[in-house]
Amino acid sequence: EAFSAKVSRAKALNAFLVETPDHALGQADAADRARAAGEEPKPLAGVPLGIKDLFATRGVATTAASHILEGFTPPYESTVTQNLWNAGAGMLGKLNMDQFAMGSSNETSYFGNVISPWRRKDGSNAPLAPGGSSGGSSAAVAARLCPGATGTDTGGSIRQPAAFTGISGIKPTYGRCSRWGTIAFASSLDQAGPMAQDVRDCAILLEAMAGFDPKDATSLQLDVPRWEANLSSDMKGKRVGVPVEYRVDNMPEEIEALWRKGVEWMRGAGAEIVEVSLPHTKYALPAYYIIAPAEASSNLARYDGVRYGLRDLPDGAGLQDMYAATRADGFGPEVKRRIMIGTYVLSAGFYDAYYTQAQKVRALIARDFEQAWEKCDVLLTPTAPSAAFALGEKSADPIAMYLNDVFTVPSSLVGLPAMSVPGGLDKQGLPLGLQIIGKALDEQSVLNAGLAIE
Ligand code: GLN
Repeated sequence: EAFSAKVSRAKALNAFLVETPDHALGQADAADRARAAGEEPKPLAGVPLGIKDLFATRGVATTAASHILEGFTPPYESTVTQNLWNAGAGMLGKLNMDQFAMGSSNETSYFGNVISPWRRKDGSNAPLAPGGSSGGSSAAVAARLCPGATGTDTGGSIRQPAAFTGISGIKPTYGRCSRWGTIAFASSLDQAGPMAQDVRDCAILLEAMAGFDPKDATSLQLDVPRWEANLSSDMKGKRVGVPVEYRVDNMPEEIEALWRKGVEWMRGAGAEIVEVSLPHTKYALPAYYIIAPAEASSNLARYDGVRYGLRDLPDGAGLQDMYAATRADGFGPEVKRRIMIGTYVLSAGFYDAYYTQAQKVRALIARDFEQAWEKCDVLLTPTAPSAAFALGEKSADPIAMYLNDVFTVPSSLVGLPAMSVPGGLDKQGLPLGLQIIGKALDEQSVLNAGLAIE
């Protein structure tokens, strides 16, 4: 009885799109057999994980939470998930997400909202967004349905849902995790990473997920560092930068207070706090919302009704009609919005005014960070400008939704490692996240600073 009540509460979160208990059990059995045979246990022996539905999994339906990929069962495995299986982990199932990873609330999924396991203290009981796009991952880990999950982060999709649900998540340096077999949103930004209960689990999972992959041309040809073994919360001799431009207009007092608390924790751990300036911060969000849709419009051209998933073939239709019908029916409104923005900013008459300009802004933002690194080792900021909002609260206003990404997008544009760790609760008892941004390839300092906060 009690168990079935728990199961139905878990199902009500709508975090899982597909359940794959056999995969998890198979890996657990393999771990048992290895132990019985006296073999050295693999680092993730038998650990059951949730896998964001953006990762192609061999023989298991993979849709990116879209209608257009319904019926698609990949005949191959993404490198990141293969790395996890090689490390002994098992898959509990595929996790719900914003459609094609476009969103900040999980409300763009074709398969319904994910509901955060958190509620406001005021008794309103309004269902809250688990964040997005990795909202199934955040809800599943926060509700203790699995000890860890994979996420992907293009402009904040690991960090913001982690912040909204009181868990940890790290986006490594661009190129650490192979993008091969991960459904593409914006290829120059997309990066996989783990979401878990704490910093140590993130370090362990990331070590298994990362690594050079010749199948991804942007994969970094570097060994995976031993992040877990080198974890330390001692911040003595470290300089923590606080970027003044992140004090945005109308930032709620609670977020300011969270940030101040984070600064105190860093000081308590022995760090020196320095103020830094990232002068082009205010251009990051507009540049991101040009570059990401531009790349998305190109990446999503492949969904044509011929190669994958859905095919709508109206009576007597020709090829063009089939394309049009399939895409009109198969993509959700947010995905169509991105495709239209993307094709517009890439069109001959507007390319220089928008796309080229956004790429120039990106270079300036990279330079901002380079200058900041002369003064500090990591940056500390809030992860998001608010706690979790209610489902429906922002879904009618895309700009309001995009503004939620204001703190996560700049580091994405530059490919820097960045992490969200829980920073406490707001007045409504909802979790707030603190973000740590590090130098390229310096995940260790990011994880260590995260540990100091935790
Ligand atoms: N919320 C951002 C967007 O909608 C980021 C999404 C992501 O990181 N995948 O583009």
